[in-house]
Amino acid sequence: MKIFFLDQSGKPGGAELCLIDIAKPYRDRCLVGLFADGSFRDLLEQNQIPVQILTNQEIQVRKESNLTQGLASLTQLAPLITKVATIAREYDIIYANTQKALVIGALASFLSRRPLVYHLHDILSPEHFSKTNRAIAVNLANRASLIIANSQASKAAFIEAGGKANIVEVAYNGFDSNLYQISADKITQIRQELGFTDKFIIGHFSRLSPWKGQHILIEALAKTPENTTVILVGDALFGEQDYILKLHQQVAKLGLENRVKFLGFRTDIPELMSVCDLIAHTSTAAEPFGRVIVEGMLCGKPVIAAKAGGATEIVEDGINGFLVTPNQPQELSEVITQCVTEIDKTKMLATNARISAIARFDVEVINRQIDEFLYRLADKK
Ligand code: UDP
Repeated sequence: MKIFFLDQSGKPGGAELCLIDIAKPYRDRCLVGLFADGSFRDLLEQNQIPVQILTNQEIQVRKESNLTQGLASLTQLAPLITKVATIAREYDIIYANTQKALVIGALASFLSRRPLVYHLHDILSPEHFSKTNRAIAVNLANRASLIIANSQASKAAFIEAGGKANIVEVAYNGFDSNLYQISADKITQIRQELGFTDKFIIGHFSRLSPWKGQHILIEALAKTPENTTVILVGDALFGEQDYILKLHQQVAKLGLENRVKFLGFRTDIPELMSVCDLIAHTSTAAEPFGRVIVEGMLCGKPVIAAKAGGATEIVEDGINGFLVTPNQPQELSEVITQCVTEIDKTKMLATNARISAIARFDVEVINRQIDEFLYRLADKK
């Protein structure tokens, strides 16, 4: 089976990192088409996955756009749609991995008569998308032969927004647990580089964006013991530069300059997570899945996650991690302080976290599941 994957982004967010793992087994019979150039292309090439940049033109559909803007941008997209449809004829399936890829993929699927698969990495709810964009996404997605939702939460929101239940399957993101085993020497070395050798380090791993809630963690940090510190790993991937400035101002205002480090976008996530004593996930809106939560668990770290969306399918509060109310810095600071003081209980939870993450999110098992979905689709043809 030959697969034509489509993704709008040149930068590696969670959906793109997930796509690398899905495309790898098909690398001798697939192509990943991107709508922008960037470091995501490099990552695909490093993994020997064939990749082609399909356009250099920016696609204007934004999360909050209205119908007129949406339709105006469609007319600009005609050359891209034609190109995708032409390439698609060489493949058995079009696999759209992002929303703009869905728009192009759905029209190209119609023109090329190739079935469309849509990997839904979003929660199509009002807190994430405008009414117009939800309507466009659901209408196009309903034309797909198969939708793979990244969590039950994403599936439920899709159906709630008018999506067809009978075409949706759920597949969580998969991970290779071996990549999250880091040597003690490496951990000591990074701690020294950070200058946090004797500190309690809380790690936050996410692009810098208001809904990822880095500001909630900074506010909570001010209320936790003096020896707790924070590393913020990630950059503003989608132009949210104002938020970075605000975070720096917040840190200065709270006098936390010596306790917070901004590390920017990094590719050594397992190493950096292994250095941490605790991983915090603080999204203020429901997280569709939450790769960072699973990654923290695979590193054998206690994870505090915001109780909404996919996070609640990964973490069982008090058993393999902690769930806190989103947007509540006070509650977060109390749980952090509890982790600092109740070391044995926290360690036990972290051990459970690793065991459950290995059992539930194995990349090989999940890839087999996706492969079965795709073969079932091919059989129906
Ligand atoms: N990540 C990364 N470098 C960074 C920050 C984050 O590689 O500097 C990775 C992180 O390890 C995770 C992904 O980006 O695998 C983010 O996925 P998640 O599902 O947590 O959020 P999304 O970006 O999809 O909203």
